[in-house]
Amino acid sequence: MTITYRFACTHCGQINIYQALQNGEEACCVRCSSVLYRQRNYMFDASLALIFTGLILFVMTNAFPLIALKAQGVTQELTIWKATAAFWEQDYYWLSVLLALNLIIFPLFELLGLLWVLLTIRFAWQRQRAIQIFRWLSEVKPWGMLEVFMLGLLVAVVKLGDIAVLVVGSAFWAFIFLVLSIAALTANLDRFTIWRALTACPSSV
Ligand SMILES: [Zn+2]
Repeated sequence: MTITYRFACTHCGQINIYQALQNGEEACCVRCSSVLYRQRNYMFDASLALIFTGLILFVMTNAFPLIALKAQGVTQELTIWKATAAFWEQDYYWLSVLLALNLIIFPLFELLGLLWVLLTIRFAWQRQRAIQIFRWLSEVKPWGMLEVFMLGLLVAVVKLGDIAVLVVGSAFWAFIFLVLSIAALTANLDRFTIWRALTACPSSV
């Protein structure tokens, strides 16, 4: 049985009918001309490569110090975990929770969740769990503010440089490249293609 996909444009609400594309082509809305989906044969392999890159960078970001401050012969290293714990100890509970969610839990969930979804498509596993995870990822994505923290960190590095000797740690660069790799992953993934590929996976129901 051939399924005819109809879907609403997220910009203007126009109902469009799916048409198969050649590699490199993109389908546009018949009313507002915004891009609906793209056909890129390299998308799955490139996404998997970006996910594994992101996971390595995530481990480095969490394992090593972001920055170290040297003042009056004392060196103080700051890691993401130390920063989160410091806010908690100073009774800034919500700030601590937000930091942990945005810097540790959301990025890890996004990388591992997408890995599960792509492996489900690649190996034609049963699709129920991957569909649930992909739906959760869509709901969590707007709450992830990794880029905002990156800007805050850059401002802090410039400001702190005025009052103490500041050493940028390896986790700082890993974090910058983690943000870039997640941004590249988001730009590379075509959500409609993912949903369509998941529909083609077997179902236990
Ligand atoms: Zn439209």
